[in-house]
Amino acid sequence: MPKFTITTLGCKVNQFESEAIAQHLKDSCSDDNRWILAQDNKEADLCIVNTCTVTQKASMQSRQAIRRSIRSNPEARIIVTGCYAQIEPDEIKKIEGVNDVIGHFDKHMIPEIILSGKEIFQPCPCPVTSQNVHSFDPIPSTGLGYRTRPFLKIQDGCNSFCTYCIVPYARGPSRSLPTEQVLNNVNKIHQAGYHEVVLTGIHLGNYGLDLYPQQTNLYALLNSIYKSCTIDRVRLSSIEPCELTDDIIKFVAESGPGAGRICHHFHIPLQSGDDVILKRMHRPYTRSFFIDLVEKIHKLLPDAAIGVDTLIGFPGESKKTFENTFSLIEELPVSYLHVFPFSPRKGTPAYTYPDRVNSNVIKEQCHKMRTIGKHKRNVFYNKFKGKTLEILIEGKQSKESGLLRGTTSNYIPVLVKGEDKLKNTITHVTIDKIDDNNLVFGTIS
Ligand code: SF4
Repeated sequence: MPKFTITTLGCKVNQFESEAIAQHLKDSCSDDNRWILAQDNKEADLCIVNTCTVTQKASMQSRQAIRRSIRSNPEARIIVTGCYAQIEPDEIKKIEGVNDVIGHFDKHMIPEIILSGKEIFQPCPCPVTSQNVHSFDPIPSTGLGYRTRPFLKIQDGCNSFCTYCIVPYARGPSRSLPTEQVLNNVNKIHQAGYHEVVLTGIHLGNYGLDLYPQQTNLYALLNSIYKSCTIDRVRLSSIEPCELTDDIIKFVAESGPGAGRICHHFHIPLQSGDDVILKRMHRPYTRSFFIDLVEKIHKLLPDAAIGVDTLIGFPGESKKTFENTFSLIEELPVSYLHVFPFSPRKGTPAYTYPDRVNSNVIKEQCHKMRTIGKHKRNVFYNKFKGKTLEILIEGKQSKESGLLRGTTSNYIPVLVKGEDKLKNTITHVTIDKIDDNNLVFGTIS
């Protein structure tokens, strides 16, 4: 039987899409000629590399992954897809050994492209605009890969064009999976034995605004899931500050516990805590709006995990503007931080902005921010010491520690003693200890 590998870089949406491509490939042939996953990424007949270009580093890692696949599988057909393929096909074509460069809008056709014997070397459409991209990518979207908490992509693309971000140029305008199909997929995931689904998108808060004739929104979707699905947990991936509405926060606070419960976890991109920098970034909120939002969530859902993204070293950032971001994080009940250094992306407005920040200063500021992030996480985890929480056990015993790992609704990873048969069950644990590396230990109760 023919063998394939698939290497994925980047965000949850890319990870979902790789799982969907792999599933589509496995399902697309007859039983005696079925594609199977190669062991150890070797001896494959086909290698797919699903790339990312959100930063310069992501593009470099994508090129490295392509070269690694070619080296390990010199006889294989090499297909490169994803955001880097969409934005920089000419750079990829220069890599000897690449057979196809397939953009976002053809990647659901990979099995058909292979069967046709044709090689594709140019993503289509190129460039991506709101005129030539209209519908949700019809890649089969059950996304049942190896995860205990599978992703489900319900939205793609973005209309916001933040001045530093390349994603809208790679993925096109916002499009949504119709509500009926979201509900069907959530139920399929539950029927397949999963207890949690993670709703993902590029700009999740824009869910439903493009749907026609029945425009809808994320709040209405969450209501429908709550009424029509019996899966134990629904988790939202990242959501923009202005789209995390009072309705949604209130609904999450009032929806659980029980089937269809929305996890007490919000991941909100802040990027900067300074109003001038936010404006230059084309982010549609202010520092005080963000403070009010986090305080509102914390008041209604004091146990909720509130994760925040920060972008450090945007052109024009000064010591004072950085301190505005730092102090905002320091003062708010934030549970954890993701810290990204600014990476100039060709084709975005910020690429041409003057006043670039010195890279050593960016490194120092990222370090400072990560240190406060570690402290915040520690404070958040310690709030639950001695308390009993529910975890979804995600795997078998770790080879190193012999412990199982599970995740709470409010996104605390807990290590516990237990047998492998507990994998994929929801169980109660009492939190015993948080160590210096923020590892959380509990006992099954
Ligand atoms: S909202 Fe801004 S940062 Fe997020 S994908 Fe859209 S353009 Fe990029």
